[in-house]
Amino acid sequence: MEREKMVVTDISKVLSKKPLIISGPCSAETEEQVLATAIRLKATGKVDVLRAGIWKPRTRPGSFEGVGVQGLPWLQQAKEITGLPTAIEVATGKQVEEALKHDVDILWVGARTTVNPFSVQEVADALQGVKVPVLIKNPINPDLELWGGAVERVAKAGVEKIGLIHRGFSSYGNTEFRNAPMWHLAIDMKLRHPGMLMINDPSHICGNRHMLQRVAQKAIDLDFDGVMLESHVDPDNAWSDAKQQVTPERLLELLEGINWRTEDAIAPETITAFEKLRTQIDHVDDELLQLVSRRMKLADLIGEYKKENNVTILQAKRWTEILERAFNKAEELGLSKEFLTRYFDAIHLESINHQTKIYNS
Ligand code: PEP
Ligand code: MN
Repeated sequence: MEREKMVVTDISKVLSKKPLIISGPCSAETEEQVLATAIRLKATGKVDVLRAGIWKPRTRPGSFEGVGVQGLPWLQQAKEITGLPTAIEVATGKQVEEALKHDVDILWVGARTTVNPFSVQEVADALQGVKVPVLIKNPINPDLELWGGAVERVAKAGVEKIGLIHRGFSSYGNTEFRNAPMWHLAIDMKLRHPGMLMINDPSHICGNRHMLQRVAQKAIDLDFDGVMLESHVDPDNAWSDAKQQVTPERLLELLEGINWRTEDAIAPETITAFEKLRTQIDHVDDELLQLVSRRMKLADLIGEYKKENNVTILQAKRWTEILERAFNKAEELGLSKEFLTRYFDAIHLESINHQTKIYNS
């Protein structure tokens, strides 16, 4: 079609902008929704790429699974009206073909696809000889080999521009996040692939609106190259991921509230390996503290239970068991028994304090 050819985007130039801002709905739902979102995003003056899910890999059946091929012309139209290049998720060879037929500018591999080497290989095969840039989300499980393996498969297909998207990792039990960021893994991945674009996806990390800015800020502080944030003209009524989407206008406020690195900030190349290691330590510490806090919340629940059943707070036998379990792993973990004893004593004392508070309440 003649009209579409008029939109010429220098995509490598777009991708080299820092910070790169990708936004758009979790899912393309209707033509009107896609166009209205794109127009309002363009009006913010801050968005570089329009994203939308066309095929949605959903955890459970029965959720909205995307509009499929019929949504692709909506994105072409959105690009034509706003000039924004488009990005979608692909999970099969056929989806790659359809996306390319419809002029999509950037493809991304979703977290549920990155975990499966067969699927990644199928996508990579469909990308042979194609110029389109590909962003690869981290797998849902915290496995850098798997993430790196997906990068290698796509690179072997000849794709020149590959980027990474850090969207957090699923974990069992309630955490503050929908997908735990485990920042140290993203940092490690960045160190393994120096120079590769690294985008943060606060929407899928948070799973809600109120933490988006905090997570995006952290990503910027960690020298990520940009963020991908979901937006929708009517977030509350979105067909997927309603809780984490924001209107384009709210997105603008959020972006304006971020403290962006200034131009005269130290260039990433000049940060020494030593400082990088220190940053990693800080992030591991943050996560240790989160885990300890989670442990105390479990101790609180046990405290309630013991109180109701009139059981003593201190149960020496249980405590010996906990220490024994840790001792058995000491060597493998490279930790001394002296350290484990001191560590568990401190933890135990804090648990007892927590439970005592519950007994006295
Ligand atoms: C998405 O970006 O809408 C998506 C499905 O993300 P993820 O693959 O990170 O779950
Ligand atoms: Mn989503």
